[in-house]
Parts: sequence; C-alpha cells; structure tokens
Amino acid sequence: MFATLSDRLTSTFKNLRTKGRLSEADIDATVREIRRALLDADVAVSVVREFTGKVRERALSVEVSGALNPAQQVVKIVNDELVAILGGANRPLVFAKTPPTVILLAGLQGAGKTTLAGKLALHLRNQGHTPLLVAADLQRPNAVTQLKIVGERAGVPVFAPHPGTQGHADESQAVAGDPVAVAREGLATAVSRQHDILIVDTAGRLGVDAELMQQAGDIRDALDPDEILFVIDAMIGQDAVATAQAFADGVGFTGVVLTKLDGDARGGAALSVASVTGRPILFASTGEKLTDFEVFHPDRMASRILD
Ligand code: GDP
Repeated sequence: MFATLSDRLTSTFKNLRTKGRLSEADIDATVREIRRALLDADVAVSVVREFTGKVRERALSVEVSGALNPAQQVVKIVNDELVAILGGANRPLVFAKTPPTVILLAGLQGAGKTTLAGKLALHLRNQGHTPLLVAADLQRPNAVTQLKIVGERAGVPVFAPHPGTQGHADESQAVAGDPVAVAREGLATAVSRQHDILIVDTAGRLGVDAELMQQAGDIRDALDPDEILFVIDAMIGQDAVATAQAFADGVGFTGVVLTKLDGDARGGAALSVASVTGRPILFASTGEKLTDFEVFHPDRMASRILD
C-alpha cells in the first residue's frame, strides 16, 4: 500500500532539492503536486484540502536559516501533517475499571472483522489477558464457524449460540438465535468464568443498511461497550468516508481498525478515516495470518509513506 503515493511525494520533494530558497511559486507548485498525489491515492477531498492548506501555510513561513534545507523542511512539514491526519499519537485501548472490558467490532461484511477478532484476541492474550470471543454475527452461519477457527488458532475460547447449528450447509440461512441475546449471554459467561475482556463480532452487510445498524445499535445498548471499533478495509477507496460516516451516525464508534494494509490499493481510506471521523486508529491488520497485526502508530505510518 502507498507505493504510488510514496513515489509521487518523493519525486515532488526531489525537485526541491536543488533550490536554495523556495519562492511562493515553488511552494504553490509543490502543494499542487501533493494535492494531486493525495487525490489520486483516493484520499477524501475534504482531508486533502485541509492538509494542503496547512502544508502551504507552514511552508510559506519557513525560515531559511536553520539546520534543514528548504526541501528537508517541506518534507518535515508534510511528515508532521501526515502524522496529524493519522491521529497524532497512538491511542491505546481503554480498559474497564471493573472487568470485563467489552470490545464491540462493527463494519461491513468482508472488512475483516472476524479475522481481526482473532488477531486482537491473540494480541491481548499475549499481553496476559484472558479474552473471550463472542460470535454475535448470526447472518452468515459460516461466520460462527470462522470465529471458532480463529479462536482455536489464537488459543482463545469462543462463546457461540446453539451448539449444533453452526457450520450450517445452507449459507443463506442465518443461525437461529437473537444476536443481542447471544451478546448478553456472552457477557454473563465472561463474568462467571472471569474473562477480563470480551470481544464481540457482529454481523456486517455488503453495504450499509438500516437493519444492520439497528442490530449493532441494539448489541451496543445491551453491552455498554468500553470500545466500539469500526473495522474498515483500507482498499475501499473513496467509499471509505461515506461508510465511516454511516457507522459513526448509526452505531457510533470509539476507534478505528484498518485492515488489508498489505494490499496494493491506493490507501486513501487509511489516510482519510481518522481525520474525517475524528476517531483514532488503534490497530492495523496487514495480512491473513493471525500475527499480521500491529498497534497503529501514526508517526511510523507517516515515515513509511515518506520513506
Ligand atoms: P468479516 O466479514 O468482516 O468478518 O471479514 P473476514 O474476517 O471474514 O475477512 C474477509 C476476507 O479478508 C477473508 O478472506 C480474510 O482472510 C481476509 N482478510 C482479513 N484481514 C485481512 C488483511 O489484513 N489482509 C488481507 N490480505 N486479507 C485479510
């Protein structure tokens, strides 16, 4: 991800290297190139506008003296502003004062929620926590089976509804049961078995719809989660903003998880979503293996883009 954006920005900066001093025209030309590179990478228009406005303003007020030459100063400004749109600093998970900490996962079908549930469970388990996974995605029977598989791989137990109905042969038929009731039973199980974290996988749809939002909202109301993590596929490009906004309005969320950062898409979603929603990116998923998972650090991501 970001290979093209990275190349475009690097060549923009290269053009500045020979300049001893930057005129306003140089800065405007540079900002134009940055704008085009970001738009071509599918970064949301509103984010691009704000970003380039800030870069221009700061580049115009750069002092000529100092340790950095003009090109290096522009790189530093772009780096700082990238870190800012990515959320500034890492925001760690919020834990409940009284366990269990409840983490609800929401997002479109295919975003990578179920995979992420396993990754997050493994990550937390490795930190000494005792998570319980809850399969509250009853739309796709396969989702329950899939969560059981990732749970097993992560060495984390899975609370699932109605033993015997999972792995239903008919993909179109939902698992019997009420996802809100399953979520509630999951919470009760976590309390009685003394799991300190509950990770709840919810149903997604291919597109945003009212029923999906209602169901996620009902689960939220039943569990009063400490974190609601919106899981978004970084490859979805310009749709990212509308999807994130729909989830922000419909369910609300406290943080974002970016998935499929290993893909070769343009990565605009990754660069837009924190800024557009005002919610921090907590984690990133970078592959299909359970260990392809990172705590998200805005500064490291910015350096990767500008490398
Ligand atoms: P859900 O519908 O949101 O639960 O999504 P899944 O967890 O089932 O993931 C959908 C597909 O994306 C699966 O084939 C996963 O293996 C794949 N996937 C999930 N996360 C990643 C990732 O970070 N990188 C890549 N390359 N594939 C991923």
